[in-house]
Amino acid sequence: MKRLTLSFLLFASLFSIKAQQSESIQLEEREAFLRRQSLTNLLRPTVHSVFSRLYTRPIDILKYDLDINLPMSSSFTAKNRITFRVQRDSINRIALNANQMTIQSAVWERNAQTEPLTFSRTDSLYITFPQWLRQEDTITIVIQYQVNSPSYGYYYYTPSQTGFGALAYTMSEPFDARYWMPCFDEPYDKATMEMKLTVPQGFVAASNGLLINLTTNPNNTRTYHWKTDYPITTYLMCFAVSNYQKFDIYYVRPSGDTLVTENYVWASDVPSAQQSFSVLPAMLAMCENRFQILYPFEKYGQAAVRPFAYGGMEHQTLSILQRNLLSSQNLIVHELAHHWWGNMVTCETFADLWLNEGFATYTEALWREQLQGFTGLYNYMQSRLRPNQWTNAVYNPPPPYFIDEVYGKGAWVLHQLRFWCGDSLFFQILKVYGEQFKYSTANTAQFKAVAESLYGEALDDFFQQWVYGTGAPRFNVTWSRASVGNQWQTTVRVQQTQAGQTFKTPLELFFQFQNSTTTVERVRVLSRDTVFTFTFNERPTSLEVDKNGWVLRFPITLDYNEKLQHQRYQYRLLQNYPNPFNPSTTIEYELAKPSSIELSVYDALGRKVATLVNEPQSAGMHRVQFSAENLSSGVYFYKLTAGEFSETRKLMLIK
Ligand SMILES: [Zn+2]
Repeated sequence: MKRLTLSFLLFASLFSIKAQQSESIQLEEREAFLRRQSLTNLLRPTVHSVFSRLYTRPIDILKYDLDINLPMSSSFTAKNRITFRVQRDSINRIALNANQMTIQSAVWERNAQTEPLTFSRTDSLYITFPQWLRQEDTITIVIQYQVNSPSYGYYYYTPSQTGFGALAYTMSEPFDARYWMPCFDEPYDKATMEMKLTVPQGFVAASNGLLINLTTNPNNTRTYHWKTDYPITTYLMCFAVSNYQKFDIYYVRPSGDTLVTENYVWASDVPSAQQSFSVLPAMLAMCENRFQILYPFEKYGQAAVRPFAYGGMEHQTLSILQRNLLSSQNLIVHELAHHWWGNMVTCETFADLWLNEGFATYTEALWREQLQGFTGLYNYMQSRLRPNQWTNAVYNPPPPYFIDEVYGKGAWVLHQLRFWCGDSLFFQILKVYGEQFKYSTANTAQFKAVAESLYGEALDDFFQQWVYGTGAPRFNVTWSRASVGNQWQTTVRVQQTQAGQTFKTPLELFFQFQNSTTTVERVRVLSRDTVFTFTFNERPTSLEVDKNGWVLRFPITLDYNEKLQHQRYQYRLLQNYPNPFNPSTTIEYELAKPSSIELSVYDALGRKVATLVNEPQSAGMHRVQFSAENLSSGVYFYKLTAGEFSETRKLMLIK
């Protein structure tokens, strides 16, 4: 899905901001899951990402077969023939999501007979079978229902509302398919799908997959029969119906294979849309080249809609685009990119939404890079840099999920992973991740595992600081130079001045020399205060830090300070501040040279109550935050040990 920027909030009243986490179908499953968890002692903080993997759902939906009679109004009647596999013994009742719709009947199809089933409603639809179902049974049921002006999911607009023809479409992400079809509405249950759409003459009905049949009926209607054999999740199923004009654009691969893109717009928009969409073959080629995976579905398509509360939506093989934004290349490439990241590999839950949206947003940057080289990439990423506004973590966004941390910061996660790994490894990670979870779902831990397996090192720090954590570094850089013999001793001190976590990141230092040559030194910042020294044959005349913009950060303050060179560090432990404190205080200390140090806190009886630092650190000033939430008021001591050096000071906690 593509969000709208503020200037496009013309239809703000249509925004469906809501939280739907209390569906009883989910609660039932989660409770059962948590019971199992406590039995097996597997309780972990990321419950919802392990939930679907460890817990066997009672049923697995194999296929939705919809037959929708759409008179082009705010209501319609439909049948949904659902085939599922039973995954547990001793089930005689199943729960489906079905909101605000009237259920007319439910029957069980077996042995060429149909048998009525009893059903009941709360906020879910419970269907009861006359006998126990067995594990591995494959069951087909048919539900007849009526959709009547639902609040979400299905939208109908008259010609005067669209400014063109009458329009009916669905928009289901994250949990709105349940307003227009009974289903199991979670991203991790993919199925195949067929959809028959019967519409009045003069209307064109577009949907997922391929049009396998088009029938003209005696009653002045036509039936469009769409089908996909590729796994599809409910939030990606859709239809869009209007008096569309369709035009095709072909993408021909170097091998000669052809992929069709089917485009549905209103007649007066055809010339401009043909022009705007002419970039599709180049975008498809770029995605296939960069991701090293061919476009993974049977066709691509786009349909224009308005009014629409978002920029676009990546329904599988039929993206819908807000009609006023048809010329937006960012929008076109974003929804296309979702066909790898979101549709081929779907986020397991919406906690992992950045695996869809961060990837699609980063593909917008890749498109700029394709057009304008590195400058295009740089400019795009800078335009999406908003560390001041990113207060949530990328992982597990609060409902309604579609916040800029998931999009902009999610793209920055990938941009920085590319910087850590280098281009060829980074794109290899995307390829392996894509292949491993093709037509399935993935979570953040699984993406991390793929990245680590290729990077060859743990990426705990990377994911902790950029995906699970919040904030961004504020670098304060001071540098100096001094001639030593016929060389130039150059010192660069990098301090992090932000509150909160300390960031670890590579950083590029660009030196320019008196003879106009330049050099780039890539260093790794690993602590709050780090001093790097270089010996050059030429006199460095200027320094720029991270000038290619690879690091998510606030603007850097950069100073030249002649004295830095001559600064001699000593070992010392400073008095904490504030003191007395509650519950948190800052401790600063200085190391004369790189040292293995320990900084610990002891109570009045000499018992160690906290170890704040226990690792090798560089020479210079260091700072650490001590939080005493779990300690009671009183006098404590903190002690710094660095080789031979040791010093102890007193601090006072007053609660
Ligand atoms: Zn999106």
